[in-house]
Amino acid sequence: MSSSDPYRELIEAFALGSLDVEERAGVEAHIATGCAECRKALAESLWVVSQLAYLTPEAVPSERLRGSLLKTVRAEAAEAKTVVLRTPRPAIPLWMWGTVAAAVLFAFYNTYEVQSLRERIRKTQETLAAQVKLQQESSRQLALARREALILTDPKSTRIAMPAEDKRFPVLQAAWHRELGIVVSGQKVPLPSGKRTLQLWLVPKAPGAKPVPSLTLRPDADGKFDLLVASPPDSLEGTKNLAITEEPEGGSPQPTTTPIWVGAVAGK
Ligand SMILES: [Zn+2]
Repeated sequence: MSSSDPYRELIEAFALGSLDVEERAGVEAHIATGCAECRKALAESLWVVSQLAYLTPEAVPSERLRGSLLKTVRAEAAEAKTVVLRTPRPAIPLWMWGTVAAAVLFAFYNTYEVQSLRERIRKTQETLAAQVKLQQESSRQLALARREALILTDPKSTRIAMPAEDKRFPVLQAAWHRELGIVVSGQKVPLPSGKRTLQLWLVPKAPGAKPVPSLTLRPDADGKFDLLVASPPDSLEGTKNLAITEEPEGGSPQPTTTPIWVGAVAGK
């Protein structure tokens, strides 16, 4: 909430009818310029004032309203003392202090209510948004899992075994489906050091052509590796090998290490 607008401070007192003629005229002229913050504050304050008759003073007041109203009351008290010296300002009759004090108490309660309602609405909206996000995330994961299952089970998929040069490493299994993409999976895959990652490459058949970079993935903590390439960067026919290298986080545009795993794409 910005407090750079000097009129904003006067709105509550304006709604309570406790401003003098000059200040009132100033606020009215300012409201007429269309200041959105003050119009909003005025609507809220008028509502608060309209509710005063129905409420009992209890609960915690808003700090801002407390401060602003107490300041108004104090300023007017000070003014009341010097009113003889400043003749253009009318004295505030004693009975009005009682009214203002009651209004202040009522307004405390009401503003607290409004804020607590707003807070509840905000929390509900947050919860809903989180649930929607969760749902979207799980349906996205479900769609990916379904796609993987289709690639792995469809007899039309081309299966590619990817053995490692180092025989201590497990053999990775790949399946390539023309429409659905490539799945590469393996168990007990050693975790690359630090933030380094494993990256898939498509090595073209064309002599001298550079490996085409694909996705990167780190095995999970159990060494499970499960990579889905929904849109392979090259065709099954044009690809000779699938290869996996270890690369810096985020992957590389061309391999920076010797492939750990290589699988020949035989095709059908
Ligand atoms: Zn304003």
